Amino acid sequence: MSNRTPITVAYGDGIGPEIMEACLNIMEAAGAQLEIEEIEIGEKVYLSGNTSGIEPSAWDSLRRTGVFFKAPITTPQGGGYKSINVTMRKTLGLYANVRPMMSYHPFVKTKHPKVDLVIVRENEEDLYAGIEHRQTQEVYQTLKLITHPGSERIVRYAFEYARRNNRKKVTCFTKDNIMKMTDGLFHKIFDQIGEEYPEIEKEHWIIDIGAAKAATEPEAFDVIVMPNLYGDVVSDITAQLTGSVGLAGSANIGEKVAMFEAIHGSAPDIAGLGIANPSGLLIGGVLMLMHIGQNDVAEKVRNAWLKTIEDGIHTGDIYKEGASKKRVNTKGFTDAVIERLGQRPVMLTPVNYSKTGTGIPQAEPPHILHKHHKELVGVDLFLDWDEDDRNPDVLAAELQQIETDGLKLVMITNRGQKVWPQGAPETFCTDHWRCRFQIPGEGPMPGGVISHQAIVNLLQKAHDHGFDFIKMENLYTFDGELGFSLGQGQ
Ligand code: NAD
Repeated sequence: MSNRTPITVAYGDGIGPEIMEACLNIMEAAGAQLEIEEIEIGEKVYLSGNTSGIEPSAWDSLRRTGVFFKAPITTPQGGGYKSINVTMRKTLGLYANVRPMMSYHPFVKTKHPKVDLVIVRENEEDLYAGIEHRQTQEVYQTLKLITHPGSERIVRYAFEYARRNNRKKVTCFTKDNIMKMTDGLFHKIFDQIGEEYPEIEKEHWIIDIGAAKAATEPEAFDVIVMPNLYGDVVSDITAQLTGSVGLAGSANIGEKVAMFEAIHGSAPDIAGLGIANPSGLLIGGVLMLMHIGQNDVAEKVRNAWLKTIEDGIHTGDIYKEGASKKRVNTKGFTDAVIERLGQRPVMLTPVNYSKTGTGIPQAEPPHILHKHHKELVGVDLFLDWDEDDRNPDVLAAELQQIETDGLKLVMITNRGQKVWPQGAPETFCTDHWRCRFQIPGEGPMPGGVISHQAIVNLLQKAHDHGFDFIKMENLYTFDGELGFSLGQGQ
């Protein structure tokens, strides 16, 4: 039986084929045991009329090998073409996006010589659910979905990564001062899971000030775990700080499949010229070699690459008079790395992957959540209403006519701001109203449990009254705890 590990390879578009060939040559020369299955994805497939950019047979290969080494893809503009990366992540459940970022000072110019951080970004949820609606003339909505299993898996992954790689600190970025339920859940899970890792320092930053700190003092961080959107933004910022986005690779880890790539795109402006820097993809390849347990090869490739960078042998994108010694093209760079296989850097810190474990933890299924007692206690009815100068008092008087089954109108908000009762005349109102009905209790608290039938009756009366209701959102409690936010000013 062959001891080669089957992997799926896509050569991609633009500079993809040039840099993929370079990387496979280096890895093979280093002794990687790979059995390559090639698949076609990207521009050619898109332009043949397949808007997903992936041939159905490609999925078979990915499911068979479970390991995907992917060169960058060009997403054609317009025409409803779907991003392959988003499709891959969601279809294959690649929930953990891991991006190690490092400065190679003084060989690659950067204002931040001491960066050595890893961003662990949640890859499937958050605003990337892509559930968007236009609801009124003026208002568009996107749903931000944060789940308990999704947050738990990514937070645990970040701590596992830190533990295996002897990282000292894990930082969490959220905006839970505003999004108390969604980001609040992520933060709470971070605190809970963090307790299982007593040897690791933990901290939480509000994303705005955290991102500012990451942009100006990246050396203050070690591993940072974040929900999807923040991770997308912050990881590009920090990659840029190290001197070049061309030097970073990433791993996208799921339970059955893992995908490894460079973080840059297909660079159509230099495609075919043979001058692209293969480093980002090569670093993705090093992560892949660790993932499949070929740590000795990963270490050999990484150290030879560090030595090449240290020797000042640089492609045009990182070549700087003074810091660099020799300007090379893709082939020249590839040959230089291959010549240095077996050597270690002297000035930059060599890696020792066989000592620190696998480096890239495997994905784990989420743990089963303890079920909470869920009770229906009210409903938010969303209306498109553009009458009577948008006067909330007029709207409230009309809505009080549809009250039923003990449900009373207790609040109206506009863009989340309470406008009834006791709204402020200065508040700007759009044509989109959230009208809360519940059995009145103490203050804003619900006074009792209701049935789904009560909501149906309310909707029937809203219909009979001629209201344009655009959606409803049920209000629940879980073990008596509110499962919804209060209105701003409530
Ligand atoms: P890009 O990363 O391809 O290029 C930005 C700039 O960096 C260009 O000037 C390019 O020449 C340079 N550059 C990038 N990689 C380089 C390398 N390895 N060596 C030397 N120079 C390099 O970003 P873009 O121009 O915005 O996007 C081009 C295409 O890539 C688009 O179709 C985009 O959708 C796609 N894209 C794909 C991925 C992916 O497949 N993971 C990621 C980002 C963008």
